[in-house]
Amino acid sequence: MKLDLNLLRSLSPDHFKVLATVERAMKKDGMKKKKLDLVPSHLICRIAALKGTEKALKYLACHDLLHHDSSKYDGYRLTSLGYDYLAIKNLVDRGVFVEFGLQIGEGKESEIHEVRTKDGTLLALKVHRLGKTSFRAVKLKRDYSKHRNSSCDWFFLSSSAARYEFAFMKALKQHDFPVPSAVAFNRHCVVMSLVEGYPLVQVKQLQNPEAAFDTIIGLIVRLAEHGLIHCDFNEYNLMIDDDEKITMIDFPQMVSVSHPNAQMYFDRDVECVFKFFKKRFDLSFEDHNTDESRICLSSIAKDADCLDKELAASGFTKKDLEDNQQFIGEGIEQNSSDRDGGTEDDECVSGTNEENIKSFDALHLQDQVEMFILSQETS
Ligand code: ADP
Ligand code: MG
Repeated sequence: MKLDLNLLRSLSPDHFKVLATVERAMKKDGMKKKKLDLVPSHLICRIAALKGTEKALKYLACHDLLHHDSSKYDGYRLTSLGYDYLAIKNLVDRGVFVEFGLQIGEGKESEIHEVRTKDGTLLALKVHRLGKTSFRAVKLKRDYSKHRNSSCDWFFLSSSAARYEFAFMKALKQHDFPVPSAVAFNRHCVVMSLVEGYPLVQVKQLQNPEAAFDTIIGLIVRLAEHGLIHCDFNEYNLMIDDDEKITMIDFPQMVSVSHPNAQMYFDRDVECVFKFFKKRFDLSFEDHNTDESRICLSSIAKDADCLDKELAASGFTKKDLEDNQQFIGEGIEQNSSDRDGGTEDDECVSGTNEENIKSFDALHLQDQVEMFILSQETS
């Protein structure tokens, strides 16, 4: 994200009102009850009801916060930069942070920046960008446009991912999982505590690989005992500090143990960890007291505490939930096959047939997550 602080400061409340008007109209044209890919200029002027709307539109387009298109009719669409500015403005106005810093990480579908609070604390800002990778973009266009026919869905899917991530992170922390503390979210951005250390994938040596392995497998098992599967549990999403303390990150794709493909996702998470530790640290599991065959989802999940059921929810329509879940399901596949910088262990990735993803019925879980978010927002 190229955040220009001078530009951010130069934007007046009216500029933001116009940006937000375009965003709202892209989400839904109230009268026609459909999403608008390109919002007609006259509609923006009418809804914003400001004197200088046209001038503001030109200014915003000139700074790439809006895209102007007059090929079919005169209209504007929000750019990803415009969406970034709306989210950052909201978080800054709420006092979540006051300074925007360097990019400290990049995922398949996100950028992570350091931000600073008023009292000087450094936090991490994760900007979700679903559809960032070309494969996803093509897949998204091909499959998803059947339903919505709108490029603006990318923004709103990214914002769904941010909400899920925030909700899962908050709930996991409350249950003492080693995850970052969720601080706030808006649109496609999540603010969380900054994790000390490095992604496990960057670590070539450990003082005690057996202990790290036990902790990590223990996390998968404990997640399942709480009714959840991470679904992208691997060396890219585990951070480790100098004391070899493990923190897990990256949660938007988590599913319930009641998911139809739960067994496959669970086994894949476990297998990734086994393969990574064997390859990187030459851990021999024959000598180790963790027996892979004993890590069995059905026996763990039958007594599950079901954190997924505790996560309260609402806010999306059933259709939004289905679309989001389908997309997140596709993300699970993509996460594994297109990791940042590639993975050494492609064999640990198994495919999922698309029909299964489409029939994915985790609405209950998602409802709960959404209600949880609402309760957080209103508390
Ligand atoms: P993605 O969903 O795109 O894979 P991740 O959440 O895995 O994104 O984050 C990508 C990278 O950003 C991580 O590998 C890590 O290096 C860094 N990162 C993510 N969250 C934090 C955090 N809270 N503190 C420090 N670094 C982080
Ligand atoms: Mg990741």
